[in-house]
Amino acid sequence: MTTQSHLEECLEKIKKENPKINAVLELRNEKELIEEAKKIDEKIRNKKAGKLAGKIVLVKACINVKGLHASCASKTLENYIATYDATVVKKIKEEDGLIIGVTNMDEFACGSSGETSAFGVCQNPAAPGRIPGGSSSGSAASVSAGFCDIALGTDTGGSIRNPASHCGVVGIKPTYASVSRYGLIDLGMSLDQIGPLSKTVDDCALMLDAIRGKDERDSISVDSPRDFAQSTTFPRPPSQKSEMNKQNCSLSEKNLTIGVLDISELKVEKEIQDLIDKKVEELSKKYKLKVKKIKIDHIDLAVSTYYPLVYVEFFSGTRKFDGRRYGLKIEDSCGPEVLRRILGGSEITKAEYKGRNYFLALKAKKFIEKQFEKAFKEVDVIICPTVPKLPHKIGESISVEEMYAYDVFTTPANLAGICAISLSAGKIDKIPVGIQIMANKFEEEKMLQIAKVIEGLGE
Ligand code: GLN
Repeated sequence: MTTQSHLEECLEKIKKENPKINAVLELRNEKELIEEAKKIDEKIRNKKAGKLAGKIVLVKACINVKGLHASCASKTLENYIATYDATVVKKIKEEDGLIIGVTNMDEFACGSSGETSAFGVCQNPAAPGRIPGGSSSGSAASVSAGFCDIALGTDTGGSIRNPASHCGVVGIKPTYASVSRYGLIDLGMSLDQIGPLSKTVDDCALMLDAIRGKDERDSISVDSPRDFAQSTTFPRPPSQKSEMNKQNCSLSEKNLTIGVLDISELKVEKEIQDLIDKKVEELSKKYKLKVKKIKIDHIDLAVSTYYPLVYVEFFSGTRKFDGRRYGLKIEDSCGPEVLRRILGGSEITKAEYKGRNYFLALKAKKFIEKQFEKAFKEVDVIICPTVPKLPHKIGESISVEEMYAYDVFTTPANLAGICAISLSAGKIDKIPVGIQIMANKFEEEKMLQIAKVIEGLGE
C-alpha cells in the first residue's frame, strides 16, 4: 500500500470515528498531507526513504509540532501554536514519518484516566464506555482505533504504559535521558520521557530507534548503545534450532532469567495477576527460561514518593504560565487536578519547610533506584501487571487516592530511571489487560526481545 492510500484510509477513519472517540484534537491540512505523502512515496520508489517512511504518526498535545496547537489539552494554552519542532518531531520528519496531527490527553499530562482534558473525555475504542487511561489517552486510543500507525506519548509516572494497557496496544517508556525532552512541555522534568505507542512491538522499536539519542538541546540526554530495531528479530523457541538462523539464537541460549515482581505489598485485582502469571508460565515453558520471584523493598512507597516530586516540579515548571508570555494564567484557567498539584507544589516548597519533604522524596527515589539495581543483578527483566485494576466506567466518580493508585506498577520505573514496556496480556470480560516488562537502564534490547516473544504467544 502506498503512503498516500494509507494516509487517506487513516483520515477517513478519523473523520468517521473521531467525533465519538475524541482522540485527535487537531489534524493538519489534508491537501498538504497528501502532497507530503506523494513525496514520501517517491522517495520509497527511489529507495531514498528514511526508516519511518509509510508510517502515519500522531503526536501528544504537549509536544511541540511547528504550526500545530501545543495546548496540553488545557484552556491555558488553548490558542498556543508551536513555533518550533521538538527534537523528536524533527527526527521523525527526517526519517520520513508523516505527522498528521495532535492527540487528546489529560490536562498538562496530569491524570491516569483521560478524563481531565479541557476538550472532553477521550473514549476507549477497545472497551466502549470505559476510560482509555492516561495521560496519553488520545495517543493510545488513536492507535487502537487505527487512526495512525504510531503515536508519541509521554510518561512521567505511567502515562504511556497505562493507556496502552487499557486500550490493548503496546507502549514504551524509554530509559530516562535516552530520548531528548527538548520541545516537551514538562510535567516532572526529572521523570519525563517521550516514547512510542503502536499496535506492535516492532513499530514501537522502530520509532524508539528514530527518536532516541543525544541532543545538544537537552543536556542530560545520552546516546543509547544499540540499534533497537535490530533487536526484535523473533527469537525462536529452543526446539526449533535451525542452522540457517544461527545469529538469531534462542532465548534460553542467552541464559536469561525472568523476574516476577513480588506483589505482596501491593493491591492488585486477582484476575489481573492470574493473567500475568499465566503468561509468564507459558513464556518460561515454551522458551525454557528460568523464573525467579523478585522483591523490590518498599515498592509500596513508589506512589507516595512520586507525587510530591511531581507536584513540586510541576509547580515550578508552570510558573511560566502567568498569562504574560503564553496563553492564560494557569491558576485562573485550569481544571481541579492541575490546581491541586500547583497548590500542593507551592505548599511543599514553602520556605519554612526548608525543602524537607522534597528531599525526603528524593531520598526515597534513590532508594528505589538502588533496589532495582540490586534486582537486575539477579534477573534480566522484571514482569508485573501494568495497571492493578480494570479501567473504570467513564463518569464513575473515584477518589483522588483511587486515581493515584492506578500508578502503583508504573511509577517505580520512572523513579528508577529504567525502561519499561506494556503490551497486551489478554482480556478480562472483553477489557484489555496489559503486562509490563521492566529492564535495567539502556537494556531496551532485552526488554524488546522478551516483549516480542510474549507478543508471539498470542492471546
Ligand atoms: N498518572 C500519573 C500522574 O497523574 C502519571 C502522569 C504521566 O505519566 N504523565 O501524574
